[in-house]
Amino acid sequence: MTDFTTTNTTAANASPATPDRTPRRVRHDLRFRKLTVKATQRVTPHLIRITLTGDDLAGFTSPGFDDHAKIFFPDAATGQLTLPTAGPDGPVWPASGRPTMRDYTPRHHDAKANTLDIDFALHEAGPATQWAEQAKPGDIVGVGGPRGSFIVPTEFDWHLLIGDDTALPAIHRRLAELPAGARVVVLAEVDSEADHIPFDTRADLTLQWVHRRGTEPGLSPVLVDALKAMKLPAGDFHAWVGCESAIAKALRAHLVGERGANPKWTRASGYWRRGAAATHDSHDE
Ligand SMILES: Cc1cc2nc3c(=O)[nH]c(=O)nc-3n(C[C@H](O)[C@H](O)[C@H](O)COP(=O)(O)OP(=O)(O)OC[C@H]3O[C@@H](n4cnc5c(N)ncnc54)[C@H](O)[C@@H]3O)c2cc1C
Repeated sequence: MTDFTTTNTTAANASPATPDRTPRRVRHDLRFRKLTVKATQRVTPHLIRITLTGDDLAGFTSPGFDDHAKIFFPDAATGQLTLPTAGPDGPVWPASGRPTMRDYTPRHHDAKANTLDIDFALHEAGPATQWAEQAKPGDIVGVGGPRGSFIVPTEFDWHLLIGDDTALPAIHRRLAELPAGARVVVLAEVDSEADHIPFDTRADLTLQWVHRRGTEPGLSPVLVDALKAMKLPAGDFHAWVGCESAIAKALRAHLVGERGANPKWTRASGYWRRGAAATHDSHDE
């Protein structure tokens, strides 16, 4: 398990010379929101941005760059959206059953404009992908959470972010929050140059894209091969990985086993698993 504290207090041995690098977990009140599609944008051939809005968005919060919300999709046949209510121990489902739901990163929340952007990476088949491809203004969708956030300090000598299309929103958010002068290396897998997206950051960014070039997602070795070939900066670093589960596991093993990554500062998640629907695997100890 990754180390974390549940309070704001600094580690007992922290001093100005040794910055506190303990991640912190923050809990949020569980809320389920019924939102409306305001706009859709095809960002790249494999990425659709859906902008959501609605009165229910009031009070939305997402302070962690790799937060996730549950997206609840309407019944494909009836168009009905079923949402749970928030009970003391978690969601309470109506007798009519549970809707199809998937995990997505709140890519950008604009409280003033009352909008929430979610970026959907498109792939072969799946209800979330299908919904995003057909979404149009006025459609409804449910959003649950985030239930909690994992706050990773920025005071490392440098940062490593690795992921595929599904991790681009989290990578984007981390790059946006890192301060000027922070050193960050990003290794990102997409199908081709047409799938590159721009990143806004004040940090000192070294960005390497790798390309599947038509190989099925989850079967391409490009992320692992590129990491193995990469010359990494010196110093203490925080590593974050989000991609297909077996690949995330292999990347973590290489980082911790071969590249001196501190397991406590290495967070690797399977954002999806080849051959299985709706998975979320943590590969941390
Ligand atoms: C914490 C977290 C945050 C996430 N954030 C995002 C995000 O912001 N944007 C985003 O696009 N995704 C994100 N994902 C991944 C997303 O939840 C999965 O890709 C999800 O499975 C997609 O649902 P689906 O209905 O399209 O496919 P599913 O019904 O879940 O799966 C159908 C089939 O497609 C395969 N599959 C699933 N995802 C992919 C993929 N990306 N490429 C190729 N094959 C796939 C499965 O192995 C399965 O065989 C996140 C996942 C987690 C755990």
